[in-house]
Amino acid sequence: MLNLIIFGSPGAGKGTQAKMLAKQLDLLHISSGEILRQEAKNKKLATQINSYLDKGRLVPDELIIKLITERLEERLGKIGIIFDGYPRTLSQADFLDKLFERKKLKSPLVISLELEEDVAIQRILSRSKDSNRSDDKLKVITERLKIYHRDTEPLLEYYKSKKRLIKIDGRPDIETVNKAITQQIKKEVN
Ligand code: AMP
Repeated sequence: MLNLIIFGSPGAGKGTQAKMLAKQLDLLHISSGEILRQEAKNKKLATQINSYLDKGRLVPDELIIKLITERLEERLGKIGIIFDGYPRTLSQADFLDKLFERKKLKSPLVISLELEEDVAIQRILSRSKDSNRSDDKLKVITERLKIYHRDTEPLLEYYKSKKRLIKIDGRPDIETVNKAITQQIKKEVN
């Protein structure tokens, strides 16, 4: 069973590629950012979640782990999953590993989309016209990138050491990146 993590900085194209891969490979798309934006519509959690999202900070591990687990419990091991935006910290990765181990599943393949920071910023700014996301403003983008480098980028070494990391050039157009990913996945699966 194929389980994937799509990894990269804000603006790398994770969401776009994850949606395409989910369709092409028949995977369940789990986007932590989408889940949080959805949960933020519910009055009970809205203030708490928005206080992080609006500043570009990560929500606490306990909260995101709980929300992800709720969506995984019944499905992990039954259908393939593509994780988009999760894990973002070492403790989130550790939690996911343990879940996979408990279910006796092979750990997910990690697709890392690589691109320069100025390209990522330009992409987010151009998407901001349609995205309606309160965190697609330059000040918040800068904070999200800082946190990415500090808390999330170290996961690359972690997955590299597990030999489950595939690096993909994230600079070309959407279709080209998608082809590069699917070709690499085929090689891994065969
Ligand atoms: P994204 O849609 O992946 O860019 O995520 C949007 C925002 O949601 C991030 O800037 C964080 O504030 C929050 N977020 C998403 N995924 C996570 C995660 N795995 N851990 C903590 N916060 C997250």
